[in-house]
Amino acid sequence: MNSIESHLSATEIGHYVNGQLVAGGSTRFGDVYNPASGAHTKKVALANEGEVANAVAAAKAAFPAWADTPPIRRARVIFKFLELMNANKDVLAAAITAEHGKVFTDAQGEVSRAIDVVEFACGIPQLLKGDYTDQVSTGIDNWTMRQPLGVVAGITPFNFPTMVPAWMFPVAIACGNTFILKPSPTDPTPSLMMADLWKRAGLPDGVFNVVQGDKVAVDALLSHPDVKAISFVGSTPIANYIYETGAHHGKRVQALGGAKNHMVVMPDADIDQVVDALIGSAYGSAGERCMAISVAVLVGDAADKVMPKLIERTKNLVIKNGMELDAEMGPIVTKTALDRITGYIEDGVKSGAKLLVDGRGFKAKGFENGFWLGGTLFDHVTPEMRIYKEEIFGPVLSCVRVKDFASAVDLINAHEFGNGVSCFTRDGNVAREFSRRIEVGMVGINVPIPVPMAWHGFGGWKRSLFGDMHAYGEEGVRFYTKQKSIMQRWPESIGKGAEFVMPTAK
Ligand code: NAD
Repeated sequence: MNSIESHLSATEIGHYVNGQLVAGGSTRFGDVYNPASGAHTKKVALANEGEVANAVAAAKAAFPAWADTPPIRRARVIFKFLELMNANKDVLAAAITAEHGKVFTDAQGEVSRAIDVVEFACGIPQLLKGDYTDQVSTGIDNWTMRQPLGVVAGITPFNFPTMVPAWMFPVAIACGNTFILKPSPTDPTPSLMMADLWKRAGLPDGVFNVVQGDKVAVDALLSHPDVKAISFVGSTPIANYIYETGAHHGKRVQALGGAKNHMVVMPDADIDQVVDALIGSAYGSAGERCMAISVAVLVGDAADKVMPKLIERTKNLVIKNGMELDAEMGPIVTKTALDRITGYIEDGVKSGAKLLVDGRGFKAKGFENGFWLGGTLFDHVTPEMRIYKEEIFGPVLSCVRVKDFASAVDLINAHEFGNGVSCFTRDGNVAREFSRRIEVGMVGINVPIPVPMAWHGFGGWKRSLFGDMHAYGEEGVRFYTKQKSIMQRWPESIGKGAEFVMPTAK
């Protein structure tokens, strides 16, 4: 068994600091479950302030040498990490399915999207080139360059335990920073697997560190004076808290929050494509994706065409343990999440939405103790209902009927979230108007889940993102570097005496 597979069977998950696994010295632990079987499989250390301080100290000590390493040599380490991520894709995917529950093929897709950002970071010498102007004034040149910040930290959610950390650390490390990952305690194993791969890629000790934990670890990172920047992805209330607290402590912060993603279906759209898109994007990963479609906005008579097929397909979803390769949807991540989602379904019924497919009570055969819920479909949902306003983060699709395109745009623009959105139509003008007028950060035209590729950057609008810069891509490079402007003049042009007026181009 190679060493990264050995993490699969470990029963206690600790931290990774200065190139070494560190058993949790704290007395607090979290519980890790296999959501398909409901079995308690591992316990995870929850770091205290001292353990976080040790990780920050290791990252601070590693920073000067790493920041001074030429970008091309940093890129060579990242290339090696890229090879190792590719070679270990299936082991990482198995770890994701075991702790998150998403189906194995979807977990493989997640790791592939993580790898995309690693690949992007391999191009860091090109991305750090900077700008140069010869002769801004006679004998004077001016250039800008970007330098790393120092120790930076990433705090990540349960739903993408490899991809979301990889939105952050490849770019941060490529830029010359040292990194501390605080993953979700719900599915912590992939973080240690990736740490192991960094070590084997030749990354110097202390450049990539992992502290497992909860609010205590997060607060320690937020207030530590040696942490220069925080990247966060998770729910909106916590994103808001991270942004405000990080800013209070003088840190650069990007905090990506929750979502309520709409898909507009115009009457001219291809109905089979629409149904495929809704089924995959609402129920894939059991709806536990920040880009999942949770609201279908059916315009005019689109509802009459879509609904019969949608009901049938929702009822026939193949819901199984994610390691069975024909599974389309796996279990819900935890019992707590299952109870929360079930509560929303009850609320939807009480508030008058029409429950067309009820996933409550579903159990996968042979896995009766797992955290199961079938695909759930509501029609006639209205904007005042909680199931419309709030993020459910489960396999629940709400259909809202509107009379025309303008009403669909107004509805979406009035929502507090603005992460992703899509519009299905055959009309180019409608598509163009939609992409220009919609107040959402990521837009799909006949594409249900428009997650931008690694070089474009990811981020929502409104209460889906706190901060100015999106994750990864060139925005990521800007986030993890600070700009320095240098103006130079050499002796031939010196000797004119002191200048007391504002310098202007001569
Ligand atoms: P979460 O907000 O509960 O947790 C995210 C991180 O914050 C975890 O590391 C967690 O340990 C930490 N945390 C939790 N409570 C905290 C507290 N009180 N103080 C400090 N830190 C705390 O989110 P989750 O349930 O793990 O993930 C699901 C959420 O993430 C959904 O809302 C989803 O929309 C969102 N998400 C957003 C994006 C995006 O790009 N916008 C991507 C993925 C997930």
